[in-house]
Amino acid sequence: MLTDYHTHTEKGPYTVEWLEYFLSVAKSRGIDEYGVSEHAYRFLQTSHLLDNPWIRERRTENLDEYFMMVEDARKAGHSVKFGIELDFIPGTETALEAFIKSYPFDYVIGSVHWLGDFGFDLLEMKSKWENRDIKKTYDEYFSILTQMVESKLFDFVGHADVIKVFGHEPDDQVFLEEWYDQLSETFSKNDAVIEVSTAGLRKPVGKLYPAPGLLRASYRRNVPIVINSDAHRPEDVGADYDKAVSYAKETGYTELVAFTERKRSFHAINQPK
Ligand SMILES: [Zn+2]
Ligand SMILES: [Zn+2]
Repeated sequence: MLTDYHTHTEKGPYTVEWLEYFLSVAKSRGIDEYGVSEHAYRFLQTSHLLDNPWIRERRTENLDEYFMMVEDARKAGHSVKFGIELDFIPGTETALEAFIKSYPFDYVIGSVHWLGDFGFDLLEMKSKWENRDIKKTYDEYFSILTQMVESKLFDFVGHADVIKVFGHEPDDQVFLEEWYDQLSETFSKNDAVIEVSTAGLRKPVGKLYPAPGLLRASYRRNVPIVINSDAHRPEDVGADYDKAVSYAKETGYTELVAFTERKRSFHAINQPK
């Protein structure tokens, strides 16, 4: 089986016609299960979960319309999984839990995009990296990621080392390996699933997420994976799956996780078309 659960249709309207562009690319690339996972911050229903000036300007959508699009697509005979990508902000666990229960998600992605008011993966905030100590920023990011996994609220971890998105990487392999070891232990202890994401290949860093050291450490501790594109355009659904599948298999993985109504099932990894 192949799945692509991490995709965003936000550049178009919440219509079945728009969704069909994503579905047809998924089909052409041999993706058996396609799912949408809009950024939660875009919805008016999430104003209590995360608030800052950047987000406030962009919180314009209604989650019910997003859910209706999925429902309408299903009525039209399409198989579509209903997901969401949530920003994890420490201290909001109780509110997150209530929000997650309020919609019939097939899966919920936990992602860290914010270190305080620093949206580290946003182009608009890229210049803020110039005043940052890279190792300290990684410490902060991986600490929040640890808290997120320990909350056990999410079905899988989105792009676990997306902190490298613009190519800021510590020149210290021991530092990284120590984090990878600690993170993989946290994933394993908390029964987490992690994402192998091709999105980094389309970003300045030009690499898959997560780094080989982190994927290897996770494999050694039996942490399951999903494979996703994080597509924001139809043409990126299933993008570079040949690379992601080889990467997973070379690491030792033979299975991936599928989700239905937040329940897991395990399937042999197929070859993409
Ligand atoms: Zn993300
Ligand atoms: Zn995403």
